[in-house]
Amino acid sequence: MTEKNVWEVALEQFEIVAERLNLEPYIRERLKRPKRILTVNFPVRMDDGSIKFFEGYRVHHNVDRGPAKGGIRYHPSVSLDEVKALAMWMTWKCAVVNIPYGGAKGGVVCDPHKMSIGEIERLTRRYTTEISFFIGPEKDIPAPDVNTNPQIMAWIMDTYSMNMGYSIPQVVTGKPIEIGGSEGRVEATARGCLFTILKACNYLGLAIKNARVAIQGYGNAGYNLAKLIAREGAKVIAVSDSKGGIYNEDGLNPEIVMKHKVETGSVIDFPGGKNITNEELLKLNCDILVPAALEDQIHKDNADKIRAKIVAEAANGPTTPEADEILFRKGIFIIPDVLANAGGVTVSYFEWVQDLQSFFWTEEDVNQKLKEVMERSFDKVLEIFIKEKDINMRTAAYMLAIDRVARAVKLRGLYP
Ligand code: NAD
Repeated sequence: MTEKNVWEVALEQFEIVAERLNLEPYIRERLKRPKRILTVNFPVRMDDGSIKFFEGYRVHHNVDRGPAKGGIRYHPSVSLDEVKALAMWMTWKCAVVNIPYGGAKGGVVCDPHKMSIGEIERLTRRYTTEISFFIGPEKDIPAPDVNTNPQIMAWIMDTYSMNMGYSIPQVVTGKPIEIGGSEGRVEATARGCLFTILKACNYLGLAIKNARVAIQGYGNAGYNLAKLIAREGAKVIAVSDSKGGIYNEDGLNPEIVMKHKVETGSVIDFPGGKNITNEELLKLNCDILVPAALEDQIHKDNADKIRAKIVAEAANGPTTPEADEILFRKGIFIIPDVLANAGGVTVSYFEWVQDLQSFFWTEEDVNQKLKEVMERSFDKVLEIFIKEKDINMRTAAYMLAIDRVARAVKLRGLYP
């Protein structure tokens, strides 16, 4: 594993590009520092009558291009450093796809798998109230991330609205359609990732038909990508979740695997596949590897064993800087997280726009607009990648993003 924590990784990635862009020291310093950090400690009544305390965070990394935007994560390993890194990546991501947002992230240290629905609802409502002065449709718009879903977004919308006294659907995205969610949001991250994979295949001369795909993580991003990429004719040869993975050289049927996961709680022991570990999945001989779980999965000790031609980062931060170097030397084409998974925030932006106008689009409209944004962004990043010659796609994406944010900072000037 990497010796650096995820915040140090985010800073290192930034520094490499700041140097390359020759950013002036003031702007460099400003973009390194999260603008606002909020830590909350709050009690929740558990089902057995006991009262348990939870720690949560909300970080605004930068708001120079618009309101802060970013998901909320529920996980035992959530830490302030992780949330800071994820908030910084959101700033770059919104800039890569050129949507008018800054970057934010939130998280609560908890294990939702060990909590009842009622406990998760009470935790969500209390956390929302604790951060309610920090969020808002013009300030900071949360969204789903690991272990949070449309139902949780509905509770956030309801709690915020109750506190304000009227319905404010535009305070959060990733909501159910019935209360102002957008068509296409559930699959947006995966669909956006698919558009970038198709573009990369086209650039590399790799046919998607029968391309062998391995996907780590079988949640919103991983499962939907498996489904969509199989529809393009690719063979999903392996998938995994936190308990382990499954492998079938002839291809797995993503929907049937999901049915098995819903019934048993995991993809493992799927009758049509052989059990493998998460580590084995990463090292499989495949064309396209999609990390769609957590950070730091591809690191200096396993990067050399990655055999895929394309690594498409549906997850945030799955590759450490040391691993980046190794993959680059091996000629593996990376579609970096800030580009590959930007479909989620892009359709979140569409949802916010629809809520603000109370005027809703069809799924075809949403998917078409998403395709335009993803393809245009991929082309811009690829252009820099080709022009610069000695950098990977991550550095190219960061160059595009950081330059856009730096220009905004410069134009707005120093207050007062
Ligand atoms: P999710 O909670 O729906 O799914 C996460 C999946 O990862 C689950 O299948 C879980 O079992 C698996 N997992 C957890 N720990 C694992 C481990 N150690 N090894 C292997 N698998 C493990 O979450 P999600 O929304 O799909 O998010 C996954 C990644 O995608 C995260 O990095 C997230 O930040 C990123 N992402 C998600 C969205 C979105 O819209 N959902 C948008 C952008 C980025």
